[in-house]
Amino acid sequence: LDPTGSNFTPEELDVEKKLRPLTFDDFAGQEQVLDNLQIFVKAANLRGEALDHTLLHGPPGLGKTTLAHILANELNVGIKITSGPVLDKPGDLAGLLTNLDERDVLFIDEIHRLSPVIEEYLYSAMEDYKIDIMIESGPNARTVQINLNPFTLIGATTRSGLLTSPMRARFGISSRLQYYNTELLSDIIQRSASILNVPIAVEAAIEIAGRSRGTPRIANALLRRVRDFAQIKGTGQIDIKIAQYALKALNVDTFGLDDMDNKILTTIIDKFKGGPVGLTTLATAVSENAETIEEVYEPFLIQQGFIMRTPRGREVTELAYKHLGKIKGNIQGG
Ligand code: ADP
Repeated sequence: LDPTGSNFTPEELDVEKKLRPLTFDDFAGQEQVLDNLQIFVKAANLRGEALDHTLLHGPPGLGKTTLAHILANELNVGIKITSGPVLDKPGDLAGLLTNLDERDVLFIDEIHRLSPVIEEYLYSAMEDYKIDIMIESGPNARTVQINLNPFTLIGATTRSGLLTSPMRARFGISSRLQYYNTELLSDIIQRSASILNVPIAVEAAIEIAGRSRGTPRIANALLRRVRDFAQIKGTGQIDIKIAQYALKALNVDTFGLDDMDNKILTTIIDKFKGGPVGLTTLATAVSENAETIEEVYEPFLIQQGFIMRTPRGREVTELAYKHLGKIKGNIQGG
């Protein structure tokens, strides 16, 4: 269960696309963000202008890409999609920008991973809808300025803190997505089940929702796995029994923590006496990269009250000891 979706098979990516809401009305939760965006979109539509550049931030799987598509849809314009690590040649960026129609959306995922050269290049595009491109080479090389159609850059990032300040300053709109509660996730699961044509009992949807790590992508992924169990081991319908059976078989715990979440907590308790422990030390101990721990795992563990961030490092809470059935002060062999 990969909250980032980066290990999804092409088939899984297809299903994910199918489950993606297309309008503001279909998008569950994030009310404050949505209320504001709806007003900005209406105003932009009324004036016939491009929407201000928009930054969406928050942990993976919470709906940033989905929202970018919805914004384009509600603005009634086209969308071009790329990502920070992919966009490494100024020529590629120029190609994308010059092909945007008036008011179109350019979506850049992982915008904190743009190279400095590309970022520099984007500034004038964002600010004045102009870019300088180099033509010819050698002694005849010169730059010409090209006017672009007014467009909207939508940037998505898991780490707004890593964005340079000139970049951040160029976004007129900035919205942070939050983890979803069980009720919202259960609505999302029921909507997805109906798109996938699988009957699901409300209690079963709630059961899956509670174990989805606050994340729609995980909720949908769990639903698909549970559906497999229902088809092979059950009647094809998802009731509470088959949901519980499947979740147990999938080794998803009652708080929705996954293997890595539990490994992080266990490691802090067993190897570092409950903490505090520094991020890099912890990362080495669990063999995961520090950035991923900070972006993907830690925000949820903190939000759920399993970990605290202190000036001296990460510390686990009482709740973590309780959840793992461990006793404080007991050092167990790791
Ligand atoms: P991100 O870009 O933040 O990593 P995505 O936009 O790709 O996340 O969302 C992952 C999946 O979760 C999508 O397939 C989408 O169907 C689902 N999803 C995300 N947010 C919502 C929402 N608010 N309502 C319904 N489904 C959602």
